[in-house]
Amino acid sequence: MPADTTATPQPGDPGEAEDRARLESVTSLAKRRGFVFQSSEIYGGLNAVWDYGPLGVRLRRNVRDSWWRRVVDLREDVEGLECSILMNPQVWVASGHVDTFADPLVDCLGACHMRWRADQLASDRCPNCGGPLSPPRQFNLMFRTFVGPVEDASATVYLRPETAQGMFVNFRNVLQTSRQRLPFGIAQIGRSFRNEISPGNFIFRCREFEQMEMEWFCAPGEDEEWFRYWCDDQREWIRQLGVRDANLRMRPHTPQELAHYARAATDIEYRFPFGWGELEGIARRGDYDLRRHQEVSGKDLTYPDPATGGHTLPVVVEPAVSLERLVITLLLDAYQEEEVRGERRVVLRLAPQVAPYQVAVLPLSKRPELVEPARRLAADLRRQLATDYDETQSIGRRYRRQDEIGTPLCVTLDFDTLSDGAATIRGRDTMDQVRVGLERIGDACRDRLTGASVGGV
Ligand code: ATP
Repeated sequence: MPADTTATPQPGDPGEAEDRARLESVTSLAKRRGFVFQSSEIYGGLNAVWDYGPLGVRLRRNVRDSWWRRVVDLREDVEGLECSILMNPQVWVASGHVDTFADPLVDCLGACHMRWRADQLASDRCPNCGGPLSPPRQFNLMFRTFVGPVEDASATVYLRPETAQGMFVNFRNVLQTSRQRLPFGIAQIGRSFRNEISPGNFIFRCREFEQMEMEWFCAPGEDEEWFRYWCDDQREWIRQLGVRDANLRMRPHTPQELAHYARAATDIEYRFPFGWGELEGIARRGDYDLRRHQEVSGKDLTYPDPATGGHTLPVVVEPAVSLERLVITLLLDAYQEEEVRGERRVVLRLAPQVAPYQVAVLPLSKRPELVEPARRLAADLRRQLATDYDETQSIGRRYRRQDEIGTPLCVTLDFDTLSDGAATIRGRDTMDQVRVGLERIGDACRDRLTGASVGGV
């Protein structure tokens, strides 16, 4: 698909029905194969809250590890942090969330009484029933709860709506214990909670989600350049996860939509079936957060500049993305239906480094003389590659299952294995088959997986 910076699908577009069908197919595959379940499903679920099944856990862990490796482990200038979800409520007063983290809410005054986010509506009538709408009122998105046994205002705390503030309030701790000098970053992965007014589109907008955020602290005047650096870095990382570049675009925020503290912000958008939408946000936050925490806490959060002997408040660039947005993007981008020898084949062309399993070992029959070496091979491969083992059903059905869950390679042991000591490696994308000696299977799989370009396993 060519890059198109204007192509937000409109109702009635020829591609719209197809796009909707793709979203439905991916949603149903995710459930059927154990990627994503509705939370507490046996009780009817909880709106916009999701659980991740065996394959979803693997996919999420791969994406999470890849982010951490790129942003923290491979750099000497970024430190990791893990903060509590509950924090002193003053944090959210200082950050502005108590006063301003709100969306404009309108109620349908017609037949359906549905609630909508006013800033997402194209007209002043209810999109569901066409009824009139109430005037907008501000609705704070933070979940509230109480610390201790008394449920009053003085005991109110919030479930964090972003992980970022943990990095700001620990700025001094990290600076003092890590020996970092500007510019440097603090990164965190963890749960965030937002009581979204109109969640939906599968896991695109959830009420509980996992954020991966990094606060990059630099000297005043250097943030414009670092902003460009992190925009490029993150787009490149998303491409390396296997997302097609033609489905990505950078969208700078207009002055009207910029958060009050932000000097600039750009969204990395993906062309979702429901239109272009924010996958990741990169923002220049200036010194707003450190300044506010310094004011409200009364603690010195300046950076002692060894060169000048003076003290400055660093300015901040922040890339922020959620695992949920990445998972839905990867599933949608990888999903393909094709016709092979008159049969429909569903294949998830996930890049090998994010696929839940990299290889599956399949004995042609359940006879012990095949099962035993197959299990031995799987145990051996498992030490270096994410390996599935499956001996149920026909080989054709097992290939189709592995195609559907995105496993790049299958290794099949058949009765010839007993005489030639070899097995067949089958590629998910090309469906080619090569015979390789059992003792070389591990190396052959690894070579093929590391050499694989996206969609070319
Ligand atoms: P929106 O405008 O869509 O409400 P936002 O601009 O408030 O989102 P940020 O505060 O910039 O979002 O959040 C940073 C990142 O966290 C987003 O780019 C997205 O990847 C993720 N994110 C935000 N809200 C949600 C949510 N409700 N569900 C899943 N991921 C989310």
